[in-house]
Amino acid sequence: MVFTVDTHALSALRDQLQGDTFVPDDDGYDAARSIWNGAIDRKPAVVVRCASAADVAAAVRFGRERSLEIAVRGGGHNFGGSGTVQDGLMISLAAMNEVRVQPAPRRARCGGGATWANVDNATQAHGLAVTGGFISHTGIGGLTLGGGFGWLTRMIGLSCDNLVSAEVVTADGQILTASAEKNPDLFWALRGGGGNFGVVTEFEFALHPVGPMLNLGLFFWTVDQGVEALRLSRQVVPTLPENSGSLIAVLSAPPAPFVPEKYQLATGYALLIAGFGSAEEHARLIAPVREALPPAFELVTPIPYTGLQSMLDESAPWGALAYEKSLYLDELTDPVIDIVTAQTPNKRSPLSFIPIFDLGGHVAGAYGRVPDDATAFGGSRSARYLFNIAAVAPVPELYEPDRAWCRTMWQDLTPHSSNTGGYVNFMNEYQEDRVRAAYGADKYARLAAIKAKYDPDNIFHLNANIRPASA
Ligand SMILES: Cc1cc2nc3c(=O)[nH]c(=O)nc-3n(C[C@H](O)[C@H](O)[C@H](O)COP(=O)(O)OP(=O)(O)OC[C@H]3O[C@@H](n4cnc5c(N)ncnc54)[C@H](O)[C@@H]3O)c2cc1C
Repeated sequence: MVFTVDTHALSALRDQLQGDTFVPDDDGYDAARSIWNGAIDRKPAVVVRCASAADVAAAVRFGRERSLEIAVRGGGHNFGGSGTVQDGLMISLAAMNEVRVQPAPRRARCGGGATWANVDNATQAHGLAVTGGFISHTGIGGLTLGGGFGWLTRMIGLSCDNLVSAEVVTADGQILTASAEKNPDLFWALRGGGGNFGVVTEFEFALHPVGPMLNLGLFFWTVDQGVEALRLSRQVVPTLPENSGSLIAVLSAPPAPFVPEKYQLATGYALLIAGFGSAEEHARLIAPVREALPPAFELVTPIPYTGLQSMLDESAPWGALAYEKSLYLDELTDPVIDIVTAQTPNKRSPLSFIPIFDLGGHVAGAYGRVPDDATAFGGSRSARYLFNIAAVAPVPELYEPDRAWCRTMWQDLTPHSSNTGGYVNFMNEYQEDRVRAAYGADKYARLAAIKAKYDPDNIFHLNANIRPASA
């Protein structure tokens, strides 16, 4: 039984919109309400698929006037399904995915519902890019507002570090610009504070010359080589130069042509190094890896930047059942490696994986150079790794045990973490104490004051929620 919205009010809303609305019996309702995580099935009373900032403002007012709970859907990728809501209003930005590139000032204006594939394809046509996520069907909205890690983090910082301005619909239905000059408090909060402060209908990013070709080195070791593989990775990663990106991963080898048949779907450990400099420089970077611990197989190849960005897409298919937890680690210490290698063989689904993001903070890369208080981003700028455990499965029989596996490993790693709140974009359940821990007391208090100014009634609360400071 789904809560329904008054039909007269709905038809008045429809008359105002450029976009579409969907209620449960409409054709297209299920497609419009769909999100990435197949484990979450919520049925909004109404989905407004907006086509403009004015549509978003009308939808926000409609929801407020009827006291509907409001969810904002960008790319729909949030693990916890925060882009959807049972019996409430889903404001979907899926149709607002246009990307306009200005090559000379190196800027891109991107609709609030664009995916990284939309952005990468448009910007790479000019040999430019901005940091995006590792899976190209992720939305730029949620990812940027919470921070945004990717292959370019070490070279140019987080996605939010490269935000120049944003067009925002606030809780009272106003359309504002946020930038260093206009509404600077809002601009600060948007860079890490998540979807708390309004609906971003357009993101303006600074772009940087990248590619179009770069060099990739992927090395895979078997499950019994875990301790050596992780020790080698922790030795290599800090030596990499700023114009590179790396990822350490616990995963099952994909059934891809470059994987020898006997290793396809085998669980193991991988180190991926992307070099944005010359081929010679990359060859020098990867040679010690191969020599120190010969891998079961490797893939060393030039690759287009858009190819790198979409390389892992099939590992996270739309509709899979998914759960995750994360924490920051200053180092992959021996006890951490022991926990990971002891528990890795217990993972059941071939899609479950552990990406260990190299933040580069320790080598004074672009990520580490941004002063901690320059943005609202919650993670430490000096942490070396963001450790993410993702249980991802095609069927419940594999999902349930891997969700338990994820929780157990996270519990065991918690004493070794510098910030157990973790990354707000990797929270499956929003517990207030973890959100506070993720930001730390000072940043949380600053965010709460800005929340009180722009959303005093906490209309936008289906997120890593910042409670408005009381007067
Ligand atoms: C497979 C997978 C891979 C990932 N890889 C990475 C990665 O490499 N790097 C990384 O940093 N993160 C990564 N993430 C996490 C990702 O950043 C979050 O899931 C993020 O919420 C996705 O944004 P979205 O717009 O697609 O999500 P949605 O579910 O649409 O939105 C999530 C929340 O963001 C807010 N939101 C979204 N768009 C807007 C907007 N335009 N205006 C206001 N609020 C908005 C809303 O509060 C919403 O509840 C990954 C997630 C998945 C599932």
